Amino acid sequence: VNRPEIILAPGPTPIPPEVLLAQANPLVYHRGPGFGALMTDVTARLKELYRTKDADVLLMTSSGTGGLESAIQNCFSPGDEVLVPLAGFFADRWRQLAEAYGLTVHAVEEPWGTRLDPSKVAAALAEHPGTKAVLLTQSETSTGVVQPIEDLARVANEAGVLVVVDAVSSLGAVPFAFDDWGIDVAVGGSQKALSASPGIAFVAISERAWAATEVAANPRFYFDWRIYRRFAELRHPENPWTPAISVLQGLQAALQLYFQDGVEAAMRRHEMLSRAVKDGVRALGLDLFGEGLEDNWTVTAIRAPEGLDADSISDRIRADFGCVLAPGQGPLKGSVFRIGHFGYFSELDIIRGLAALEMTLERLGYPVKRGAAVAAAEQVFQEAATP
Ligand SMILES: *Cc1c(COP(=O)(O)O)cnc(C)c1O
Repeated sequence: VNRPEIILAPGPTPIPPEVLLAQANPLVYHRGPGFGALMTDVTARLKELYRTKDADVLLMTSSGTGGLESAIQNCFSPGDEVLVPLAGFFADRWRQLAEAYGLTVHAVEEPWGTRLDPSKVAAALAEHPGTKAVLLTQSETSTGVVQPIEDLARVANEAGVLVVVDAVSSLGAVPFAFDDWGIDVAVGGSQKALSASPGIAFVAISERAWAATEVAANPRFYFDWRIYRRFAELRHPENPWTPAISVLQGLQAALQLYFQDGVEAAMRRHEMLSRAVKDGVRALGLDLFGEGLEDNWTVTAIRAPEGLDADSISDRIRADFGCVLAPGQGPLKGSVFRIGHFGYFSELDIIRGLAALEMTLERLGYPVKRGAAVAAAEQVFQEAATP
């Protein structure tokens, strides 16, 4: 039988029926009042999610990486110096993007799984006084670590450099405060914690970042923020190019769902699901990977047990149960596998994933006490449900 896959991976995440139905609706033509209202609504809700009053939020048709590329194009010129703390796969994407546009990258290299130390970033900024920006990744999806963006932004602001944040896998799942933390650019994506389809990137842009845009000499066209802003200021706001209208219709429904319960409830849910996954896999005797586990509400990175290849776990659970986990990336390939738990997940989604993991490990010859992970997760859920 051909059942839908059970996705427990860090994006795309499961899409609720309301969102699927909204994106199956007839298209709203992308120039005119209908689309203008859609764009206005989506933008207003995203601003609330970013916690910004003053920043502009632009919507672009691309995956999250396009949003990151737009930041490099719009804020910098060839030869500009940027600081990139490296502790995982997505931080390294910032480095690659910056180098592709001829920027000079000062890397602060830490082992994968490190929770960054703001004082080290401050020291690196002091060592490179010509630095124009620090490029950060809030949720380092490859290791599960949620970086202390508030503290990192503080040292960057003290040094007077722009703070550019990849919040693609964290926005909506963990706290974020664009204005209060002094962020200049923050990039998000439709297919992560908001549980819409892939295809829309969004970028919040501060006054300081707009000023950088005016002098930036990097080549740009499709992602030129100035053109997006011009079209967003029309009486009926538009995108300059034909956007992924259906995805936007779905994203609007996803944001409606998200705000029905509110941001606080979403944060509490992510914390609870994260704890359930972590307690569950620990109950099987597995070790977790990465620092700052208490704060890592987006992704849980798990060390494969001694003698077992991590890829064989993610391959087998998919083959036997249609359950999609994420394999290890980079140096973690083969030794770590990951469970994504941001987005539209319920308690029972987690329970069935943990049950499938127990059976998979047993089939691969790792001794498990059947039901141990499920029981540990239930414990978390029951505690959370008790007032
Ligand atoms: C998913 C993700 C992205 C964007 O990936 P796309 O495939 O381009 O959408 C960027 N950064 C992080 C941290 C991510 O998890």
